[in-house]
Amino acid sequence: MITKAQLQKLGRLHGTPLFVVDHEALRGNYREFKRYLPRVQAYYAVKAEPLPEIVETLYKAGASFDVASMPEFRIVHENIKHLSAKKRQDWIWDKIIYANPTKPADTLQKLNRYKPLVTFDSFEEIKKIRQYAPNAGLALRLQVPNTGAMVELSSKFGAAPGEAVDMILAADKAGLTVEGISFHVGSQTTNFDNYVQALSLTASVFKEAKDRGYTKMNLIDIGGGFPAPYDASVKPFKELAKVINTEIDRLFPKDIQILAEPGRYMVASAGYAVSKVIGKAVRGGKMCYYINDGVYHTYSGVIFDHCKYPIKAFKRGPTQMCSVFGPTCDALDVVSMAENLPNLERDDLVYSVNIGAYSHASATFFNGFPPATVVHVNQ
Ligand SMILES: *Cc1c(COP(=O)(O)O)cnc(C)c1O
Repeated sequence: MITKAQLQKLGRLHGTPLFVVDHEALRGNYREFKRYLPRVQAYYAVKAEPLPEIVETLYKAGASFDVASMPEFRIVHENIKHLSAKKRQDWIWDKIIYANPTKPADTLQKLNRYKPLVTFDSFEEIKKIRQYAPNAGLALRLQVPNTGAMVELSSKFGAAPGEAVDMILAADKAGLTVEGISFHVGSQTTNFDNYVQALSLTASVFKEAKDRGYTKMNLIDIGGGFPAPYDASVKPFKELAKVINTEIDRLFPKDIQILAEPGRYMVASAGYAVSKVIGKAVRGGKMCYYINDGVYHTYSGVIFDHCKYPIKAFKRGPTQMCSVFGPTCDALDVVSMAENLPNLERDDLVYSVNIGAYSHASATFFNGFPPATVVHVNQ
């Protein structure tokens, strides 16, 4: 945990906008995940925040990784460069999943030598994998309900349950090995029933595949979606883990391998944003603050991630309802239209917590404003 006072000190020391990563929080989140889901191997979804320092800390903690592009693959690979070719190969084989169901042909070509585990969700992808990465192991990405998730993924990804086994058999016929089933219940899933339904659909696909003669599957990948504690309405991870453990024990044999791809859960609570008031105005009777970070930068999750990050002041005092705007010349650059803040002056610092996931990861250089400076603590 970083205290408010520490955060303010960091803001003053390093300047703003600042993105602070607490590595003790990363290690804590990884430990908690393992503690409550002991049967599950955690593959950190690098896209949530691909900073190499974060990948390194999770690597040292024992994590595996979910990558979705060659640059993400290389960030993870940096940590195992020093290993012998054989050991590196084994590590990649055991600890990396390439979980982007649709892959460019040249990426498959580059991945082939590592015998990677990759996901797929179309007949077209089977043809591509057979041609460019015949050494790959496959996991079928299944379409599952994303009801109530903050970020919905089921319209873009996943084979419909009705065609899943046809696809598995097609891959088998193409000479490929389908090792199991993967799914994603939608990011920031607070509706735990999504996991129950997804596991039940997965079990039916396993059964149908077996009935139709395919018996090589021994892996389930329960994806991401594990919610970050953004507010008090999010039930504890422990409760979700209990639901998942119960269903897995009920539906699957003891020796099945279980993977998960937590992204948000690992990094959200490890990230802080500190920025500074650069201007103010009263518009239509409402106080408006302009800060030096916004939705093209660390607050990009407001747009891409459908996430809200309360803005907090270091200063105390009576509060009023305000708007908080980012620094660019775009009217879309609105951090919030409803924040209760004390009266702030130019150069006063403000901050947000729980902003480690899908934030700095999607920051741009729009309008000449670079992404926030990154500082690592408790590394
Ligand atoms: C983004 C993504 C994840 C991570 O999801 P979270 O909701 O952040 O845990 C996991 N798996 C896949 C395939 C993804 O695309």
